[in-house]
Parts: sequence; structure tokens; C-alpha cells
Amino acid sequence: MKDLRKKFIKKAKRIVVKVGSAVVASGGDGTGGIFSRLADEIDEIRRTGRDVVIVSSGAIALGIEKLGIKGRPISIPERQAVAAVGQGSLMSRYEAAFSERGMRVAQVLLTHDDLGSRKRFLNARNTLLTLLGLGIVPIVNENDTVAVEEIKFGDNDELSALTTNLMEADLLVILSDIDGLFDRDPKKEPGARKIPLVEDVDGLRLDAFDSSAGRLGTGGIRSKIEAARKAAHFGAATVIANGNIPGILTGILGGDDHGTLFLPREDRLTSKKHWIAFSTRPSGRLFVDEGAKEAVIARGKSLLPSGIKGVDGTFDAGEVVHCVDAGGMEFARGVSNYSSAEIARIKGLKTKEVEAALGYKVYDEVIHRDNLVVL
Ligand code: GLU
Repeated sequence: MKDLRKKFIKKAKRIVVKVGSAVVASGGDGTGGIFSRLADEIDEIRRTGRDVVIVSSGAIALGIEKLGIKGRPISIPERQAVAAVGQGSLMSRYEAAFSERGMRVAQVLLTHDDLGSRKRFLNARNTLLTLLGLGIVPIVNENDTVAVEEIKFGDNDELSALTTNLMEADLLVILSDIDGLFDRDPKKEPGARKIPLVEDVDGLRLDAFDSSAGRLGTGGIRSKIEAARKAAHFGAATVIANGNIPGILTGILGGDDHGTLFLPREDRLTSKKHWIAFSTRPSGRLFVDEGAKEAVIARGKSLLPSGIKGVDGTFDAGEVVHCVDAGGMEFARGVSNYSSAEIARIKGLKTKEVEAALGYKVYDEVIHRDNLVVL
């Protein structure tokens, strides 16, 4: 275990630290002590030459506190409004605590749609890398005014996983008010045992874990496992740990046995393939015959027009689409070189027949292997 921690944690150079609502609000007492603690620990970690990016929830939690509301609003627009009130408080607390230690911070608000567009994804990456280059600590949150994914079910867990790829980080630390992953719900069952290590996150049965969320956030353990899975596919390790324990971050980075460590997958996806698999929302479906499916899955081939039986949905060239078999089961996902209208005209054709059908030919492949992910 010590060796694994050394291999995957101590060597990490770029770390995404996700701070959950339950940590930010520190049990709702709003003393602000948590921000000083995070600043101290992150300062120490940065002094070891590592980059740190924070993904912080807490806009809603602090908005509730500021407005003096009892509990979390039920309607989504109300939560969005409360988040708009709280985001300023969240940033000013980080700003105050970090500047006291000579660190500068920057607010970065993202949506899943931003990250689903390759152009905006790369723009966001450039901005964040520039911030790191300037020695600034980026603090990312969902842009709750325009997007509701994390408010509804994520508490930024997914955003933290997508940020791990965005930043090409090698470690994701998810700080919440739980000590890690347990075999049963530790809040309900006193005999529950912590699982210190998950070697194969894809092998975990998600339905065995509670999906209900904490009092202040929306995440729950399932969305954290899901985040760890996404990070694992990008080749990053994840630690889920209790952010309310002083010294937790520096302890984790020092190789201490805190929380649950999820190992990365050895067959990691490239950043672009990870983006295709996890950050995008495919806009259509290609129905692929058995021969082409086999060629894609077993022989690593590109998808050619001849293997396509049908197309569903409306999309432009350059958009990500699902590749499904005759039964409608998705087996791959990739960036289409042709629009849905073009594919409707060239489906089933041999490569040499494409030009005659369209009057031009841009590519031989509908989806090139480099832009295709087998799921
Ligand atoms: N982005 C939201 C926040 O910062 C997510 C957390 C939640 O759903 O409570 O407050």
C-alpha cells in the first residue's frame, strides 16, 4: 500500500483538489477556518514544485448562509440564484486566505457544454495553463447561472474529473465529509468498513453504493466513484478523503494512508480520446454492421462508409457521435468527418464510390481511428 501511494501520489506533479460543499461550509458554522487551512496546505504542496488546481463547490452553501435561508432551496432557479449570491463570498474567502500567504487565485466558471466543445475545451485549457504559468491558483466552479448539472446531481464531482483531463493532472483529490469509500453506508451502519484501495474502479458495482447526497451538496458517494472512474481512464489516480481533518491534503501528498485510493488504468486514454469519451454529448447515432463493428473493436480500424447502415440525428462534420450496433447498443464513440446529411448519402458505399455520390470526398473514413474510442 505504501509503495502504491508512493508511486501514484508522491510522484504526482499536477493535482486537482476538489473541495465539496460540506467542507466549505464546515458543518455549516461558516467560521471560514477551512479556507485558511486549505491555503496553508496548498501553499506547502506548491512549495514542493507541484501545480494545484482547486475545483470548489460551496456557492450554494455560502449563499444559503448569506441570505439566511433555512435549508437548500428545492427549485433549480432558486438554487441558481442562491449560487449567484454565494459565488462572490466563496471567492472572497479563498482570496483573503490565499493572499495572506502570498498566493494569488483566479475564478474560473465552466459548464459541461463548454467542455463538450473541443474549441472551448482547448481555450479553457490554455487559460488555466497560463494561470498556472503565472503562479496563480485557479479556482474552478460550475457556472451555476447557466448550467444545472452539478446543482442537480454532482456537487462538482464530475466537473473535477473533467478538469483532471483538462489540466492533464496526474492526481485528483476529492475532499468531502466522509473518510473514503466504505463497504456500507458508515452514517447508517456502525460496522461499515473503509475500503483503503480500489485497484479496478470499473470492477466496482455502483449499485452497491448509496447514491443519496449530503445535507449541503448533491454529490453522494456514487458520483465520487464515477469521477474516480473517469480520472482512472485518463491515467490519474484519485483519493477520496475527509476534508474536515486538519492536515489531510499534505498528509495525502506525503504518502499517508488517508481515505480511499483509486488506481489509474494502465491502458489510459489520450487526452483527446478521454475528451471524446467523457466530456462530449454526442449529437447523433451511426448504425454500424457487424463486420465493421468487429473491425473497430478487435482490429483497431477506422469506421468507413461501407460499414454504416443508417444514421440518426442531425449533426455537422466535426461533431461527436455514438456508434451503435444493430441492437442499438453503443460500442464506440468518435468525431465524425461527415455531417448526418452526407452520411445518409454515402452509407454502405465503398470508399471509391464516395466522391461520385457527394461530388467531393473529404476523408476516406467517416471516423478516423485516432478520433474513435471503443467503450
Ligand atoms: N456548483 C455548486 C456550488 O458551488 C454545486 C454544489 C451544490 O450542488 O450544492 O454550490
